[in-house]
This record gives sequence, structure tokens and C-alpha cells, in this order.
Amino acid sequence: MEDVGKEMKRTMESHNLKQQYQEILKSVYADKDVKEFLKINQNRLDKNAVEKSASKLYEFVNEKKKLSNGNVNFAKGYQPTLILNDHLIDVSYQPTKEHLNLERQKKLAKNFKTVGMTAGIKNVNLDDYDQTADRAVALEASIDFIQSYENNPKSFHKALYLHGPFGVGKTYLLAAVAHRLSDDGFQTLLLHFPSFAVDIKNAINNNQVADKLDSVKKVPVLIIDDIGADSMSTWIRDDILGVILEYRMQHELPTFFSSNFSMEQLEQEHLSTTSRGDIEPLKAKRLMERIKFLAHPIQVSGRNRRNN
Ligand code: ADP
Ligand code: MG
Repeated sequence: MEDVGKEMKRTMESHNLKQQYQEILKSVYADKDVKEFLKINQNRLDKNAVEKSASKLYEFVNEKKKLSNGNVNFAKGYQPTLILNDHLIDVSYQPTKEHLNLERQKKLAKNFKTVGMTAGIKNVNLDDYDQTADRAVALEASIDFIQSYENNPKSFHKALYLHGPFGVGKTYLLAAVAHRLSDDGFQTLLLHFPSFAVDIKNAINNNQVADKLDSVKKVPVLIIDDIGADSMSTWIRDDILGVILEYRMQHELPTFFSSNFSMEQLEQEHLSTTSRGDIEPLKAKRLMERIKFLAHPIQVSGRNRRNN
């Protein structure tokens, strides 16, 4: 990159194109960014800086022109800026806003995975989370979690079990948490549990149960959304949910939950009865112990936001 201008200067001089070179320099000095830079830095520049740095100024104007014409410059996604370098002028390349945005989107796509969620859920953001008193506790607890986890991701952090009626914003808040964590570089999986249960049942046919289970067990941050929304078979309860929770407890991996049921209700009304109607309170109790180890309950209330 350093040689673009120098090369030009050499070529021109060697072809005795001094005249034309002067013309080019004239247009370089007429550039408004160049003029501004020279003005701001006039006291810091060597008195011959403009002549000595002519090739740099030329490079700057030329690369800028390529960018504004929509041509790909040599460093795609970067734009030239003028900087001071030991009383002379130099060009530095800074990532463009578009480039930074694109990088951010890529990072999000890589770190934020979902199962059974609408596509728009990935755009939910803590910054535009409209806070009401009903949800202040859950929001504060979420922010506390993010801070302590990000400060020390290797140690155990108890996550949240958000419970409350349909439509109060539980999923929305957890999606915002996932967004922030992913944006900050932490892999997060937001799993709509009833959809995942269907997925994994289907995975039996093509032998993918172990792989799917593994990725859920091991993801650094897991969010199990809407647990209790559908009745579970014993297989889903014990061999899937039970195994995931056991692994995450053993490895102290952060795991969030959302549910329409409180922990007591989930244990008594949901986990202890299988879809076949068997009643197994002991199994339910064991599962609940794991959930309680992983997350502390927070009630979310308020109006149903799905109605507007
Ligand atoms: P729940 O999971 O508790 O049933 P959701 O998170 O799905 O509720 O929220 C219900 C609706 O309200 C969704 O359409 C969501 O986009 C909207 N919503 C929830 N919380 C907020 C919020 N803080 N700001 C803006 N919209 C919200
Ligand atoms: Mg929900």
C-alpha cells in the first residue's frame, strides 16, 4: 500500500511527465480533506512536509476517489485517512462503518444460534428494551448476569429462570441477553424447547440425536425457552432434558429458562406427569434440583404484549 504513490511518482518522473505530475498534485492540494488536514496540522508539520509527502497525499486522494466511485480499493472495507508521522504526512487505513457493521453481523451469526425461533428474534436488543416496573427486576438480573459472566466466563454463574404469563416479554428479554452475549463474543444458543423436542425426535431417523444433543449440552450459554409448554415423553424428559441439565450442572455451564410455570408448578404439574400419563414425582424432583442449581427464579409480570 505504501508504494502506490511512490510508484506513480517514479513512473511519471522517469517518463519526464513532470508537467502532468504537477497537474495531479494541484488537484491533490485542492482536495478538501487534504486542505483541512494541512490547516489543522500546520504547526506540527515539517516545513517541506507537503513536498516530501506528495506521494502519500496522492495515494490518499487516489484511494479515496476509487472508494467513492465504488471501485474496490486494495484494502476492501478500509478507507484512507491522513495522519501525522514524524512531522510528515502519512496515510492510514481505517475500517469503514459498513465494514465494521458487516463484521459485527458475522460475529452475531457465528455466536448466536437459535432453534425454533422467528428470524427477527436475533435483532432484539437490550438497548431498545422498553423497561417497565414489572420487568425491572428481570432486566437488572439479566444485566448483572452479563457483567459477571463476561468478567469471568470460566467460573460458574447462576442464570435466570423467568416465569410469568404468556406475552409479558420473557422470550424477548432472553433474546436480548443472547444478542448482547453473542455480540461480545460468547456463543449462545436460544432453544425453543418444544420445537427442539420435535427436532430431536426426527433426528432419530437419520442418526443425529447424539450430535444434536451434544451441541446443546456443550454450548457455552444455553437458553431453554418455554419449558413446560408441551407435555414431554419420558424419553424427552429423561434422556434429552435430563441429560442436558446433568451435563450442564456437572460442567457449571450457564443455563437460562423461561416458562409459563413457576418452578413448583413445573415440577408438580409438568415434569412429574409424562405424555402417557405416568406420574413420577421423584424424577420430577431430580430434574427440578438441576434446574434450581442452574438458575434462580424471577417472576415477570405485566400486560400481554402480544395483543398490540
Ligand atoms: P413471552 O415469552 O413472555 O410469552 P414475548 O417475549 O414473546 O413474551 O413477548 C411478547 C410480545 O411483546 C412480542 O411480540 C415481543 O416482541 C413484544 N415485547 C416483549 N417485550 C418487549 C419489550 N421490552 N420491548 C418491546 N417489545 C417487547
Ligand atoms: Mg416466550
